[in-house]
Amino acid sequence: MPLRHLLQHNRDWASQVERERPGFFTRLSHQQAPRYMWIGCSDSRVPANQITGLDPGEVFVHRNVANVVVHSDLNALSTLQYAVDMLRVQHVIVCGHYGCGGVQAALDNARIGLADNWIRHIQDVRDKHWPHLSKLGTDARLDRLCELNVIEQVLHVAHSTVMQDAWRRGQAVMLHGWVYGVHDGLIKDLGVSCQSLAELMQAYPAAIAACGVALPASQLPVLSSNLAPPAP
Ligand SMILES: [Zn+2]
Repeated sequence: MPLRHLLQHNRDWASQVERERPGFFTRLSHQQAPRYMWIGCSDSRVPANQITGLDPGEVFVHRNVANVVVHSDLNALSTLQYAVDMLRVQHVIVCGHYGCGGVQAALDNARIGLADNWIRHIQDVRDKHWPHLSKLGTDARLDRLCELNVIEQVLHVAHSTVMQDAWRRGQAVMLHGWVYGVHDGLIKDLGVSCQSLAELMQAYPAAIAACGVALPASQLPVLSSNLAPPAP
């Protein structure tokens, strides 16, 4: 059965936009020049444009289960590279959300199928921070892992060759880690905004401390540039 109601909504929306802003689609058809890239969860409750008040053409979006960035994921990395190298976005935002089903599955050791291998990446984050998470009640544990997962994915974006190349050539691209409340519609900044690995090294301990994780300096991750020139 054709989805007539969706197609009708589309026609209504397009006419309304054109009525309110004549030439909107013609202008957009020439080129996109978004300032933002969004890496978010596929969850239907977290639509990037709507919750940030952005129009078509203003945010370049990549979404997957639980907003994970893996160094072997050519889909995410290709999208990131296009955003940074070609579109020259100024901000890359990793946005998770409270009540994330992927994060919950990681905590529950749920067996879903193929996705188990994807969720394993979140379980790695869970295991890394388990000494802290294990002390929390069920709800708080899910909330904190949703936050910690975002912070760790920002780390992965920072470690990508795309970001390291961009920063090395002096391109101003700032990373951010946010978490969205599906219960109240509000975004919380997790305090990992950075424009270099050095800035991230400063921000990371404070950001995870805000999640209740106090790691001794010896256990903090080493954020290394794999593209740094050899030491003289
Ligand atoms: Zn989710």
